[in-house]
Amino acid sequence: MTDLIDRLNAALDEDERIAERINFSGHWVIDLNGEWPIGAEQRMLDHVMRHDPTRVLRQVEGARKILARHQPDAEWCGSCAEQDDYDNLFIVWPCPTILALAEMFGVEP
Ligand SMILES: [Zn+2]
Repeated sequence: MTDLIDRLNAALDEDERIAERINFSGHWVIDLNGEWPIGAEQRMLDHVMRHDPTRVLRQVEGARKILARHQPDAEWCGSCAEQDDYDNLFIVWPCPTILALAEMFGVEP
């Protein structure tokens, strides 16, 4: 169980480390009249600008909050088990939320 947590944390740490290396605050703006990036089309630049380091850091922070909330409790997800306690229905860990989070960050369950 902790292997998935470790790999998710490693992926988050790596994204954070790369985003922080840029040492940037604000949002990227790319001038198509400049010389870089050569051959880039506006739709490519729109994508790059939308995924600037500020956004990556927000995503990492949000993912860490989700991961902290959906920790294993024995073989169940502690958070999802609480939500379904009334029905006495427990969700096996990794729960669908953690599986989706792993997919988002390219981590195999
Ligand atoms: Zn859960």
